[in-house]
Amino acid sequence: MIRQVRWTMLRPRYAPQTPAALLLLFLLAASGASAAAHRGVVANAASPYAKLKALDLDEVRWTAGFWAERFQIVRTNTIPVMWDALHHPENGARFDSFLEVTGAPGRITEPKRLNWWSDGDVYKTLETMAFVYALTKDPALDRRMDEMIALFAKAQEPDGYLSTPIKIKGAQRWQNLQNHELYNMGHLLTAACIHYRATGKRTFLDIAVRLGDYLHKTFQPRPPELAHFGFNPSNIMGAVELYRTTGDKKYLDLAGTFVSMRGSRPGGSDQNQTRVPLRKETEAVGHAVAANYLYAGAADVYSETGEKALLDALNRIWTDVVTRKMYVTGAVSNLYRGRSKRNDDVHEAYGVEYELPNRLAYAETCGNIANAMWNWRLLSLNGDARYADIVELVLYNSMLSGMGVEGKDFYYNNPLRRHGGELPRIIRLQDHPLRAPHLVCYCCPPNIARTIAGLNGWAYAKSENALWVHLYGANRLETNLAGGRLKLEQATGYPWDGVVRFHILEAPPSELALMLRIPAWAQGAAVQVGAEAPQKAAAGAYHPLRRRWRSGDRVELRLPMDPRLVQANPYVESARNQVAVMRGPLVYALESPDLPAGVRVSEIALPAGIRLAPRFDRGLLGGVTVLEGEARRIPEGDWTAILYRTLRAPQIQPVNIRLIPYYAWANRGMSHMTVWMPVAW
Ligand SMILES: [Zn+2]
Repeated sequence: MIRQVRWTMLRPRYAPQTPAALLLLFLLAASGASAAAHRGVVANAASPYAKLKALDLDEVRWTAGFWAERFQIVRTNTIPVMWDALHHPENGARFDSFLEVTGAPGRITEPKRLNWWSDGDVYKTLETMAFVYALTKDPALDRRMDEMIALFAKAQEPDGYLSTPIKIKGAQRWQNLQNHELYNMGHLLTAACIHYRATGKRTFLDIAVRLGDYLHKTFQPRPPELAHFGFNPSNIMGAVELYRTTGDKKYLDLAGTFVSMRGSRPGGSDQNQTRVPLRKETEAVGHAVAANYLYAGAADVYSETGEKALLDALNRIWTDVVTRKMYVTGAVSNLYRGRSKRNDDVHEAYGVEYELPNRLAYAETCGNIANAMWNWRLLSLNGDARYADIVELVLYNSMLSGMGVEGKDFYYNNPLRRHGGELPRIIRLQDHPLRAPHLVCYCCPPNIARTIAGLNGWAYAKSENALWVHLYGANRLETNLAGGRLKLEQATGYPWDGVVRFHILEAPPSELALMLRIPAWAQGAAVQVGAEAPQKAAAGAYHPLRRRWRSGDRVELRLPMDPRLVQANPYVESARNQVAVMRGPLVYALESPDLPAGVRVSEIALPAGIRLAPRFDRGLLGGVTVLEGEARRIPEGDWTAILYRTLRAPQIQPVNIRLIPYYAWANRGMSHMTVWMPVAW
């Protein structure tokens, strides 16, 4: 009888205090039903308007290849580097601030350097550790997290409020939305839920509950003076996740309040999406991290409430982003500083349509990651492959470019062109010419790290009788579906290679659909089950393989990996008459170390019919597939102190070039680099 309990109906509760609740959990566990299906990167198992449900944090394990390597890099290199940075006086985010406010003063010698959003970056670092712990059970990480959480508890004020920068800088609560209290608190809520799911310990979750209760009390009357609060509103996703973890509906109400209060009163600004209420908005505006966190949070709220006006708004904004405002790398935020069409001051922001500069691209790593988070949440609502394409585009390109190939240094911005040291690209005072281990603004490094560490949780999803494969990468999966247990292995060299093999190890007795994502670029993909004839699989959709699977069944997917020349809408002036090169999900770049001596990156044009040969080079940049071919060199001559001159016919010459994946640029010292190159007909 218990087997008939549908796992989608279970509302997870972390504290089953009543004997009946305990009995139910026991029976579910004993029955093999997926009582634990609320331990995912999001816990949407019971979300009524999410068609696709996340798997648990430890149900998918990378076994080899691209993401397994990056998971390992984050574990062995990035976590220690982040821990050092959080104790470094030049870093904008500091774990020391928790020591400072809990009885070890003197740690923060220059309070000015401490970012208002420092706490949030500390919580993201812990979230990274929790994701790694979920898969490794590394006791050293567990101890480190325990120590951190003990200090968080000590730093929390009796009413539940917690912000170390407010205390250290001597500010008052809720005076200025730029003080990022809700950003910090939102990341606390999320990290606490992930820590609970990874360890089963309630220590951090108890802090989150106290904070959630405080926030509910503070915001439930919707005080007018706080109507536009919440810059970088990670608090919406955090409150939804706290609701999903505890089952207490007041946190969902709180998340709804956070969405609705923005723009509810006059005096808002496009900068933090408070000029126009979200439900009436028609375009993406303002600070890109703030915008995308708002959209992602609203998608979470929609998954619980099914409110059509929210989804309609998200669809309008999404269309604006992907048809007018997104880079070919999936990056967003073209604008460092400027004005919105409604004449508000904006910075680190979405700009006007088609205005996508290359050298001066802002493209903050966090904004790009938030774009992926938003799209992954939209994907969960309905399984539309368009969203998965953008998730993948961001992950392989404009997220990964934020980190060096060894995982030890980071970029805040991700431009698509650089002219070496000759024309420094300094658009903010804190711009680093090369990636750096410490940043004046440290939001991006732990955001990349937590995304990679938890990416196994993004790779698949399940609906009642289907397993959805979103990301390809060698892994092993074990999960429960409505019909029973599913175990499989995925083997692939993706993204270097387009062949993906699945080996079923155990399958439910009932019919099950394996939903294979066929990216929009994969024209001509084919799927073969065992020795059956191969089937064509349409690009830009999930290809369903529905049947009764048996242990030992094998599936092979072949994605075409021919390099592609990509052009932009002619309105994108910075890319007009140019092409970018892509292969699979990867955007490629031309970087000066890969050109013959004396040849400049800006002299290279690609013939429209260029043949680019892929070659895997294990020793280069951590192991990458490069693309090699014969391009044309159009010598520029000397332009010193000249802005314009009469056109001269150039002596065009053939030149051999090598392209590298964009994410791996700037790992060989100062360089010239471009994603877009002129096309020669
Ligand atoms: Zn950032």
